[in-house]
Amino acid sequence: MSRPLQARVNLDAIRHNYQFARSLGDGRTVAIIKANAYGHGLAVVGEALAGADALGVATIEEALVLRRTGVQGRLLVLEGVFDRAALREAISQRLDIVIHSPYQLDMLAQEPEGGHLALWLKIDTGMGRLGFSWPEAAAIYRRLRAVAPQAEITLMTHLACADEPQRECNEVQLQRFDSALAGEALAASIANSAALLALPGARRDWNRAGIMLWGVNPRLDGIRHPELRSSMEFESRLIAERQIGAGESVGYGCDYHFPGPGRFGIVACGYGDGYPRHAPSGTPVMVGGRKTQLVGRVSMDMLAVDLTYLPEAKVGAPVTLWGSALPVADVAAHAGTIAYELLTGLTERVPRIYE
Ligand code: PLP
Repeated sequence: MSRPLQARVNLDAIRHNYQFARSLGDGRTVAIIKANAYGHGLAVVGEALAGADALGVATIEEALVLRRTGVQGRLLVLEGVFDRAALREAISQRLDIVIHSPYQLDMLAQEPEGGHLALWLKIDTGMGRLGFSWPEAAAIYRRLRAVAPQAEITLMTHLACADEPQRECNEVQLQRFDSALAGEALAASIANSAALLALPGARRDWNRAGIMLWGVNPRLDGIRHPELRSSMEFESRLIAERQIGAGESVGYGCDYHFPGPGRFGIVACGYGDGYPRHAPSGTPVMVGGRKTQLVGRVSMDMLAVDLTYLPEAKVGAPVTLWGSALPVADVAAHAGTIAYELLTGLTERVPRIYE
């Protein structure tokens, strides 16, 4: 028998979540599928979402993978292009590119115009990451128009706190964005998943949905969203089971001791697969459809679960590390991280099974 660990990916759920994202507001929606489609597999998810208004990735390399698999539609490269060779590639492959820095304007100025050029001018309104600062937006826009007179230009920004919709910084960013180029009739894009779901004032001509495509509600309060469907079952099986005496320990560091006589199982999944090593004892795990907990430290290839109160769970019993009955966001919260990190961290040795 081969190792029982796998990530079952539900492509219908992803398409459903995309359609739901698209139903919010009047704008078009970029399906953000960077970082290997948040761990789900870039090429297959790209094909499954080929009918989307546009797909978004971080890098040119990711965009080229999608073009090679036959994705013909609009493809947005969020980190942009870093040199002239990449710019030429982007133009020849009809990629939409983000312009966030002066060196990119210089590159564009040297490029003979011709053919398709779709540029997303990124304004930093408070995120403190990529983009021209908002007070210089008008001047930068004029320069961009001068170096690329035929280009289709979309104005974009990214919110720092959209997962906490009540915070004032969201309003500040929206005001800065709206005042940056108030006189120009430009297409605009602000919202990520969190803003799309909880900040209607951020919805514009283009919205950019990432984490919600996988059924995760990005809000920090962790409330599940009734319209979103989980896209992945990360599952394995028990490969061993043992009785253990009171006070005996499990795993590296001997730092989890059974409080009384009990039983534990070993699951084929570890941090070498992308399960978070810092998940502490008590992190929920489902065995045979019932909730139990992780005990002891996570190893590279294995982890241990408490079976004391699951007498029916034997070797071969199905285990869910996360999925529709156990949100990846819950596991992430126990491990002190976010669902984004767990999904993008799934390693290559985990087979993805598409359904
Ligand atoms: N837009 C930009 C610029 C991003 O960097 C990201 C993701 O990090 C997204 C949109 C999608 O965000 P989310 O996954 O929170 O929907």
